Amino acid sequence: MTILDENPRDLDAHSDASYAASRARSQTLHAVIDDPQARGRAGLRVLTGDRPTGPLHIGHLFATLGSRVAIQDKGIESYILVADYQVITDRDSVGDVHGATLGQLADYLAAGIDPARSTVFAHSAVPAIGQLTLAFLSLVTDAELRRNPTVKDELAATDGRPLSGLLLTYPVHQAADILGVHGTVVPVGRDQLPHVEQTRAIARRFNSRYAGGEEYFRAPDALLTDLPVVPGLDGAKMSTSRGNGISLGMTADETASRIRKARTDSERRISFEPDTRPEVASMLRITGLFTGERPDEVAARIGDGGAAALKRELTMAVNDGLAAHRARRAELAADPEYLEEVLRQGNVRAREVAVRTLEDVHDRLGLRL
Ligand code: ATP
Ligand code: MG
Repeated sequence: MTILDENPRDLDAHSDASYAASRARSQTLHAVIDDPQARGRAGLRVLTGDRPTGPLHIGHLFATLGSRVAIQDKGIESYILVADYQVITDRDSVGDVHGATLGQLADYLAAGIDPARSTVFAHSAVPAIGQLTLAFLSLVTDAELRRNPTVKDELAATDGRPLSGLLLTYPVHQAADILGVHGTVVPVGRDQLPHVEQTRAIARRFNSRYAGGEEYFRAPDALLTDLPVVPGLDGAKMSTSRGNGISLGMTADETASRIRKARTDSERRISFEPDTRPEVASMLRITGLFTGERPDEVAARIGDGGAAALKRELTMAVNDGLAAHRARRAELAADPEYLEEVLRQGNVRAREVAVRTLEDVHDRLGLRL
């Protein structure tokens, strides 16, 4: 079978049929993860990660960190990737990648990631992932990479930069991240599904083309989360690059000052109207994430207090809600040698697994000398 024999629509995770199939697999997976006996038998291994483009923010805490800790605490083996090579997919230099990496690690540990149970590692420390990417590039066409909706979205977000080869092939690199450590579970939001679909296709194609039909790679499943996308202070999705967020590592004063300077609108009475008042709506939503209220309930509570009262509420909710995380984070950040050691050990573990995978791949390609 050539790779072009597959129906290209199978890879279009935005198509309804493909989304429904992913969703069904994800629901089964959720059920397995919640059942202590079933999850013990399933041999699951999670791979997740973040790009070290800057400090992690509230969006990461609610959308990813919490569920990673919950999965780890269920005894499921977890690998967490500091995707440092993916920083240069959409910018010219990595910036202070070392500082960002240690900060990210401090946030992971403060949130409850336990380095004895979860392996935190960096791309740049595991060259075998780069070599696996080369092998996997032989299994994809340029047409399917060009129509990947996530690549298109990421390109659109880079303000007219030309599409680099690294951004175009980023789903293949991600397949190497996942399959390199034999990840079987990839927690993602719907927007990231095309990458998981691409990885599944690469696993299937590798098995049929190079492994004589043996199931050497297990096709990983997306674990879909229904958590809302956390908005930033400007109403758009909170993101490190956009600078519209509240980072987990900010002090209480920095948080207050960031919120004080944020734009609102001139209407005095606070109401929850996301379409016409995006900044106010975001502030209400973030407050509600911490207090457990619905955004319209927060709005009703503030009423005629206006933007000043809204900002006071938001500042208090964030600073109270993050106080314990920040105290643990500060302690960890004060001990960079410890953080370096955690990363060093994670890198060693990930390297061992990925090198073994690469050797197996070379065997099947006939490249072993
Ligand atoms: P960058 O701006 O550099 O792309 P980012 O803040 O968007 O950084 P990523 O590293 O791209 O963060 O995302 C890491 C993970 O966190 C992804 O799974 C992403 O979906 C999730 N995530 C990031 N921001 C948010 C948010 N505001 N709400 C929910 N999830 C988020
Ligand atoms: Mg992003």
